[in-house]
Amino acid sequence: MININTNYLKLQASYLFSDIAKRVTDFQKNNPDRDIIKLGIGDVTKGLPAACIEAFHKAVDEMADDATFRGYGPEQGYSFLRKAIAENDFQSLGADISAEEIFISDGAKCDSGNIQELFAQDIVVAIPDPVYPVYLDTNVMAGRTGRFTDGRYEGVVYLESTKENNFVPSIPQENVDLIYLCFPNNPTGSAVSREALQQWVDFARESKALILFDAAYEAFIRDSSLPRSIYEVEGAKEVAIELRSFSKTAGFTGTRCAYTVVPRQCVAYDADGVRHGLHGLWNRRHCTKFNGVSYPVQRAAEAVYSPEGRAQCRELVDYYLGNARIIRSTMDALGYFSVGGDHSPYIWIEGKMDSWEFFDILLTEAAVVCTPGAGFGKCGEGYIRISAFNDRQKVELALEAIKAALD
Ligand code: PLP
Repeated sequence: MININTNYLKLQASYLFSDIAKRVTDFQKNNPDRDIIKLGIGDVTKGLPAACIEAFHKAVDEMADDATFRGYGPEQGYSFLRKAIAENDFQSLGADISAEEIFISDGAKCDSGNIQELFAQDIVVAIPDPVYPVYLDTNVMAGRTGRFTDGRYEGVVYLESTKENNFVPSIPQENVDLIYLCFPNNPTGSAVSREALQQWVDFARESKALILFDAAYEAFIRDSSLPRSIYEVEGAKEVAIELRSFSKTAGFTGTRCAYTVVPRQCVAYDADGVRHGLHGLWNRRHCTKFNGVSYPVQRAAEAVYSPEGRAQCRELVDYYLGNARIIRSTMDALGYFSVGGDHSPYIWIEGKMDSWEFFDILLTEAAVVCTPGAGFGKCGEGYIRISAFNDRQKVELALEAIKAALD
């Protein structure tokens, strides 16, 4: 008899985006003349940078010719891309990361979900609340949590991000082994200071824990005093793995390319307290279960680091940040407390009411779709997330409609 992994039965069905879709469909059915503007989901809307498209085309042409055709590539990624990443994203910041420590993948979603395989079943996991749900659900699937009661899984240490701590969680009092941090944050849009990140790294070093630092939104940072990488912080190489993605940096959500940094010094321990390098273990996992990102996609990603590519990506991100400024300033002017949007595409707004009630008001009175904060965790209750990923004109129209509905 084939038995299932019963941990899957503990998963809470994610009704968030299907609930949103249902309410939007119902509203549209009853109001066929209303143009609905979607500022809910975190997907980009603008085309790929010209430099990436050019490199992409060229690489596709190479695949058509026997002389330049490429079959299976290295599982870890082509050295041209790993080298470009190490130099531009790390060494240029003074972070001593080498090309061999970079693993190219088809998404930070997969990497953030897969990485927990390297760790023991009985480790204690610390997860932010509100959170990008992948961190939590993949640990539930792996059997690291108990039952789900009163909105939370037993056995998980929740790192609360609230107005009181400026949406940067405090160091927990209890013992934790694997810590998920994401800055600039999804969903709150908050950024972390170098000092606060140093405290987390010091804590991880003292407690022999490991930090998974998700920097998928790093490209949105516009304050040079904020850390772009955890490896800018002293001592991080032994206790941190960093996740990055080209999805939001260069519009690759449909093209798929990301990477994970596992420094050679980064370690975890066996039951006898013996240290084991995580670089070798991740390499083993990656080579066993993954066959590499396609050659043309890696060439397109490499072009992000050319002078033209850099300028075009900056322009792309600036465009979304311009949308974010409009959203934030309008909501501020309407008297709503909000964070994010200055180093992030997300604005986290306190609605002064239930998350879904606020969602319904924006949908029915302004025809604007946002995401109810409660869908990201208990601490998200009372908040909504508005995404800056859309066309400028649509964002302006949406904000005019919100103003009329809420003023
Ligand atoms: N990490 C965070 C925090 C995200 O918000 C997202 C996407 O929304 C991802 C990772 C996924 O990135 P990718 O498109 O590379 O899978």
